[in-house]
Amino acid sequence: MERLVIVGGGLAAAKAVERLREEGYEGSVTVVGAEGSPPYERPPLSKDLLLGKDTDPTVLDADWWSEHDVQLMTGTRVTALDREARRVELESGDRLEYDLLVLATGAEPRVPDLPGADRALYLRTLEDKDRILATLESGSRLVIVGAGWIGLEVAAAARSHDVRVTVLERDDLPLQRVLGDELATHLAALHRSHGVDLRTGVTVEEIVLGDDGPVGVRASGETIEADHVLVAIGAVPATALAEESGLEVDDGIVVDERFQTADEHVLAIGDVAGAWNVTLEDRLRVEHWDNAIRQGRAVADVLLGRDTVHDWYPYFYTDQFEFSMEYVGRPGPKDTVEIRGDLEANAFIAYWIDEESRLTAGMNVGIWDVNDTLREMVGTRVDRSELTDLS
Ligand code: FAD
Repeated sequence: MERLVIVGGGLAAAKAVERLREEGYEGSVTVVGAEGSPPYERPPLSKDLLLGKDTDPTVLDADWWSEHDVQLMTGTRVTALDREARRVELESGDRLEYDLLVLATGAEPRVPDLPGADRALYLRTLEDKDRILATLESGSRLVIVGAGWIGLEVAAAARSHDVRVTVLERDDLPLQRVLGDELATHLAALHRSHGVDLRTGVTVEEIVLGDDGPVGVRASGETIEADHVLVAIGAVPATALAEESGLEVDDGIVVDERFQTADEHVLAIGDVAGAWNVTLEDRLRVEHWDNAIRQGRAVADVLLGRDTVHDWYPYFYTDQFEFSMEYVGRPGPKDTVEIRGDLEANAFIAYWIDEESRLTAGMNVGIWDVNDTLREMVGTRVDRSELTDLS
C-alpha cells in the first residue's frame, strides 16, 4: 500500500486529505502537525475570535480522522527529512517512512532584527490569539508594529475592546504597495476615524523592555509607551526541512505547476510553496486562505493521477471596521486603479488595469456575490468607460 505522509497540520494539509478520501484514495495517510490542535482556519484569529465571537475554526470534525482512516499526529514536530531513505524523523526520535511526502509546513511570523523583538507578541496560532485576547483590556495601550493585513485587523479588533491602539508603519501609507495611494489613504483615514493612532513613515528602532516584558517602542527617535507590543511585519515560509534535505528553496519551496519538487517523491503546497502558475507564467508563493484550500485539493487530484495544474488567480479577503472586501488577481506596479461605487460608504469595486487595458485585479468592498464575476474579468481587456460597481 502507498504510504503518504503530510508534514504540517494546517489548512492545506486538511483540504488535501479530505479530497483524497472523498475521491477514494486507498493508500495510508499520516498527517504530522507541530501544533497541539487539529487543523484550523487562521483568518478568524485576527477577526471574529479576537472580537470575542464564538466561532469554531476547526477544519474537519474530530471524528472525521478516524472515520476516514487518516492518522493525525498533533503536537509532533518533524525534525529531519532523509530523502534518500524516504523517511522523516520526529522530535521523539521515531521515524516515519513514506512513498510520497507532501510538505505543508506553512509560514511563521517574521521576527525583526531589533532589540527586544523576541519578547513581543506575534499572531499565527490559536495560542497566540489567546495570549493577545487576554491583553485586550479597555484603556490598555497596545502598540502594533506593521500596518499590514494582520496588524490592521488586530488594530480594528483591539479598538472594539476600547484598547488604545498605536500602529507604526515604515511606508507612507498602510498597504500602499498592495492597494495604491488612493485606497491606502482611504484605509488610513478609516482607521484614524475609529481612534487608531496610525503613524506612517516611521522607523522602529527598539522594543523597549521593562522587568516583565515590553513597555514601549522606540521609533524615529521617540518612545511610545505601551502595555503590550505586537509585531506584525509579515511571515516567512517554514522551509527548514526542505533546505536541510537539499531541495531547492527560493523564498518558498520551489515546485512546478503540479506541486512537485525536483524529487519525484516530495511535493509542497500552501504558504510554504513557491508554485509555478501556468496562467501567470510565474512562480508564486501565496500566503492566503483560498490558496491553501485550492492547493490542498489540487495536490490531492495530482496524487490521484488527474491532470490538475496551478492556474488560478490569487484571492484573499479582509474585515476591518466597515471595510470588508474580497480581492482577486495579481496587479503589476504600474497598473492604475479605477474605482466604481461609493468609496466613502465602503461599497465599491476597485479595478487594477495595466498599460494594455487588461484587468489584472479586482476588489469588491461591501458589495457581495460579485467576486466570481471579477475573477472571470481578470486577464481580459476592459473599456474603462464601461466599468461599473456591478451591483
Ligand atoms: P499553516 O496554516 O501555517 O499550517 C502549517 C502547519 O504546519 C502549522 O500548524 C505548523 O505548526 C506546522 N508545521 C510547520 N513545520 C512543521 C514541522 N517541521 N513538523 C510538523 N508540523 C510543522 N488569508 C486570507 O486569505 N484571508 C485572511 O483574512 C487571512 N487572515 C489571516 C489571519 C491570521 C492571523 C493569519 C496568521 C493568517 C491569515 N491568512 C489569511 C492566511 C492563511 O491563514 C494562510 O494562508 C493559511 O493558513 C496557510 O495554510 P497552510 O496549511 O499552508 O499553512
